[in-house]
Amino acid sequence: MKFKYLLFFLVAVTAAPWANAQSKVKLKDKTPDVMIPHLTRESVRSLRGVPGNVLDTIDTQTPGVQIILYENNTWKYYRDPSAAIKTDAIKECWDEDAIDPYRQDLSSLPDKISVWVVDTLNQYKCPRQVKVYSKFGMRHRRRHQGVDLPLHRGEPVSAAFSGRVRLSKYYKGYGNLVIVRHENGLETFYAHLAERSVEAGQWVDAGDKIGLGGSTGRSTGPHLHFETRYRGYAFDPQWLIDFESGDLRHRLFVLKKKHLSIDSKYVPESEDIEDEIHAADSLEYAAKAKEAAEAAAAKYHKVKSGDTLGGIARKYHTTVSAICRLNQGLTPKTTLKLGRSIRVK
Ligand SMILES: [Zn+2]
Repeated sequence: MKFKYLLFFLVAVTAAPWANAQSKVKLKDKTPDVMIPHLTRESVRSLRGVPGNVLDTIDTQTPGVQIILYENNTWKYYRDPSAAIKTDAIKECWDEDAIDPYRQDLSSLPDKISVWVVDTLNQYKCPRQVKVYSKFGMRHRRRHQGVDLPLHRGEPVSAAFSGRVRLSKYYKGYGNLVIVRHENGLETFYAHLAERSVEAGQWVDAGDKIGLGGSTGRSTGPHLHFETRYRGYAFDPQWLIDFESGDLRHRLFVLKKKHLSIDSKYVPESEDIEDEIHAADSLEYAAKAKEAAEAAAAKYHKVKSGDTLGGIARKYHTTVSAICRLNQGLTPKTTLKLGRSIRVK
């Protein structure tokens, strides 16, 4: 399913003026095998405003998915939310009252999970482009499960990604709280709102207003307390979003179990390490692609009467030692059995 979205996205990047404006990916410079992991790591710019009035909608081959054309000659894919709310990730443990409806044991979660954050159907809007005021982690001997982003009272707060509002109510220390569940299984929390403008069950797109900034609940001044959670476990939203630039760090977020620890704060210094990991990964992907290409180009020879390794090597324009390298246990002295299949390329 996700792979299909990726394909959609690739098509959109090559064809859409809108997508080109949003992305700096140069497809022609990269071979497909190496390109895909790079693409996932492209940062994503926050949506800037609304695209304008709708001119027309066009049906696609996928039921429920349409292309919307805007007056300013931009376009985007749109999916009928009635299809999205039927996905397992949205339906699972649906509860419009509980902060953590999953109540899952940490040990039962996988060590590493890949989460598509943005694809053709799902965009991104930075909750607030500002320097993080209070970071994720232990603060005054209390677990701070999100980041605090300064704002003025009454300023509109919008959804970071599209999803279904799972909870919208006043909740103890959170004050006016909105939780949005996304199709990739992540949930985002927006707390201390002066006013909530959405109801549980409602579908929102990235950038849609969900309320107004405020200082309700346990709060000393107007700010947005923003959380990102996976199956009830909060992780530092800065792993996902660079709030200062407003950019989403990657399209594909690899959530590791260590991210779910309260001590796992995003530290910018580690970006170098992350880059090193990415570089090593790229080499690994390239090596795998090469291996796959070689395997696809493999050639075999069935030993016939009178065949010698030297003769076979000459026939396929290769050398005896190259053939021996390709066949485990084969040496220049091996007696060739009739009918044996030998890899020659
Ligand atoms: Zn906070």
